[in-house]
Amino acid sequence: MGWIKLDKNAFFNNLRLISNKAGSKEKVAIVLKDNAYGHGLLEIANLAKEFGIKRAVVRNIDEAKRIKNLFDYILILSDIPQKKYKFHFTINSLEEIQKFKSGFNVELKVDTGMHRNGILPNELRDAFKLIKKRGLNLKGIFTHFRSADDLSSELFWQKENFKKIKKESLKLCKEFGFKRPLFHSCNSAALFRSSYLEDDFARVGIAAYGYLEMDEVFGEFALKPVLSLWAKRISKKKIKKGERLGYGGVFEAKEDLIVSTYDIGYGDGFFRLDGKREFILPGGYKVVGRVSMDSMSVICDKDEICVIGDAKKKARFFNTISYEVLVKLSPFLRREIV
Ligand SMILES: *Cc1c(COP(=O)(O)O)cnc(C)c1O
Repeated sequence: MGWIKLDKNAFFNNLRLISNKAGSKEKVAIVLKDNAYGHGLLEIANLAKEFGIKRAVVRNIDEAKRIKNLFDYILILSDIPQKKYKFHFTINSLEEIQKFKSGFNVELKVDTGMHRNGILPNELRDAFKLIKKRGLNLKGIFTHFRSADDLSSELFWQKENFKKIKKESLKLCKEFGFKRPLFHSCNSAALFRSSYLEDDFARVGIAAYGYLEMDEVFGEFALKPVLSLWAKRISKKKIKKGERLGYGGVFEAKEDLIVSTYDIGYGDGFFRLDGKREFILPGGYKVVGRVSMDSMSVICDKDEICVIGDAKKKARFFNTISYEVLVKLSPFLRREIV
């Protein structure tokens, strides 16, 4: 089974750029959901702590428990607790408020235009009322923008909506006797598109891992990919001209070749190539035939080979985004910090 290398210098480079953009390390929450975007939850959490990041965002309680000693603040995006924890829990709808027992720390997600989840701006007062009645501690108010990475003005009206919500929330806090909550709205793209951060912190995922999926007109930001995927050679063969290789024999050698088979396949989260379109690995090596569950064949005779370097390049080939290429990587792959 191949393995993942995590480049600590690249990660720290990205965290430095992000902290500068946000204003300080304190104004950055690292998003660690889905096994830290496939990188490895504990590895990335430990590195982020070493760098000085104090806030983390995860998807569920299970992830939060695994990193609870590493951060002062952990926000859970989507989970309802049965037991008492000091984590912050997201409220995604008015109905959800009823599901929390009294005493929990909650943050209210407000829909500023994405229409995916979160309460509507005109439900704000009702939400405050219910949170008060339920005896919950209101710790934050936040939103998530739908078009932060698009070349359009959409981000700006959504930001305006959030500004209004902040103002309204501060009034409601006074009225209902809550302390000032934390306000946050920006993901990676929104942070890098803003001239400065108006909130208490930004929730940054993909940029920390070295990518931004936004139009080039927004500039180059010197982010570096943190992850690379490596494979070891299982075997090496001479293939004669005219011989065919792999499932379905879709590859036919046009000349005599040395082909090696490496121990990464679609079972490890490397997307399956069907052998019909030419795919070139970092270093210029050509994948031949179909990718198998646990292996792939490459015109190469090296002992070890890098099979993912720039996730964005692979994403473009499959008409998807870097997030998906990364997050699909198997949690069973060994992670090595270099
Ligand atoms: C995933 C997620 C983020 C991080 O987004 P990136 O584009 O990876 O920076 C921020 N906020 C919420 C609510 C998310 O679900």
